Amino acid sequence: MSLLRKAERCFANQHTHKLLAAFVAAPKDITLFQQDLQAADERSKEGRRKSLIDGQLIAIKDNICTTEEPTTCSSAILNGFHSPYPATVVEKLKAAGALIAGKTNLDEFGMGSHSTNSIYEAVKNIYTQNGDALSAGGSSGGSAVAVATGQCDAALGTDTGGSVRLPAAYTGIVGFKPSYGLVSRWGVVAYANSLDTVGVLTKNSSMARSVYDTIKGYDPRDPTSLPTSTRSKIDKYVTNRGAKLQRSSSTSLRIGVPREYNTEELQPIVREAWLKTLQQLRKLGHTIHVLSLPATKMALSAYYVLAPAEASSNLAKYDGVRYGNKSADREGTDNVLFAATRGASLGDEVKKRILLGSYSLSAAAIDNYFIKAQKVRRLVQGDFNNAFSLRHPLLQHQGQSSQEGQVDVILTPTAQSLPPKISSLDKADPLQAYGADVLTAPASLAGLPSMSVPVSVSDDGRQDLKEPNTVGMQILAQFGDDDLVFDMARVIE
Ligand code: GLN
Repeated sequence: MSLLRKAERCFANQHTHKLLAAFVAAPKDITLFQQDLQAADERSKEGRRKSLIDGQLIAIKDNICTTEEPTTCSSAILNGFHSPYPATVVEKLKAAGALIAGKTNLDEFGMGSHSTNSIYEAVKNIYTQNGDALSAGGSSGGSAVAVATGQCDAALGTDTGGSVRLPAAYTGIVGFKPSYGLVSRWGVVAYANSLDTVGVLTKNSSMARSVYDTIKGYDPRDPTSLPTSTRSKIDKYVTNRGAKLQRSSSTSLRIGVPREYNTEELQPIVREAWLKTLQQLRKLGHTIHVLSLPATKMALSAYYVLAPAEASSNLAKYDGVRYGNKSADREGTDNVLFAATRGASLGDEVKKRILLGSYSLSAAAIDNYFIKAQKVRRLVQGDFNNAFSLRHPLLQHQGQSSQEGQVDVILTPTAQSLPPKISSLDKADPLQAYGADVLTAPASLAGLPSMSVPVSVSDDGRQDLKEPNTVGMQILAQFGDDDLVFDMARVIE
């Protein structure tokens, strides 16, 4: 099918699925792209495509800056805000010939697990249960639904504690979170900057790889972007390991199954899908190794101390003066103006996190909360380092125990359950929403590459279009071993 025809279908789907509220801004119709698509079709015919994503429609989460559309983070405080510059990732997509399909809905500033904390309408999953709307996951729920419903070819999201992987799992698509520091955050609105990553949502892992290969790379404008020299060191290191793997046992991988991820709350259908996937992998010649990551049980609590602490600092600039829509009440001192602006224009969840973060950073609480959570973060990283046979490429000088019993990848479910009904979400009980991240937050704390891949759970292979029929499996690998995550995904898909 020509790129133009394919894009026409995406636009038709945008029209059909409007009520799911995946997009917050999108070009009205295809006329804007017609010429570009025809040119991309020409290039394709003549065998001179700009890249693997030339002429593909890619949607962008609305906390990533674009210049054509506003960037609102689904917050009233940024309503109508136009960034004067695009994010590096957006620039890179465009240079590769991709077209921006529009901006997608999210939980305000990325804070949430169901894409319901938005000034726009809540995002709805393509799947329903007995006619009831289901959660699309969050906070990149808009990007996930846009992909799942064929409104675009791929979408960018952000993943701080699971926001790409959880929506991917709930909507039955692929969601990839790269190693921290490999993809530029320049032009990506910070939530918790030591955890924030830009991720990719697509229908299959090969498309995710094409998009990831386009957006990765050193960016001097992002101080946490890994420099080229470190990247080549990682590449060399990972390639050596790859060669060793090939020599030792052709393609047989050692797959780790962490005990702590087999939680009581795991729904039977999720546990069965996990077991079935492991059995299939064993049949293919891979070996399964049960292991322990003891700090896992503290990871979620540490995440919910650290992420709000960073958020409280990052969001201080939305005061109506430096950034954000000023409150109509402009009388009085700066403090009055700040309070009126923030009081009126930030949502409840965002306010809660700012309060929580300011408290845990306060002199009275920092030792007990923030510092302890940082220590837990180190323990979580240490657990993973002990589990993987590949040493952490940036911590090679630190000794590691013997490689005996260590693994190449870890496989767990992405979420403990299938998507819940939106009507069952209780805003008064934040722990319910926070619990949705229990299996994804550890990889975020450790900065590891991770991907959610859908596996089918309908016995007869029937594609029931209404009820969820897949479970997301989460692949984790050592820092910098992103390619191995993609290789593993191809085996599972
Ligand atoms: N649900 C988590 C949170 O609210 C993760 C969000 C994210 O990854 N952006 O913080």
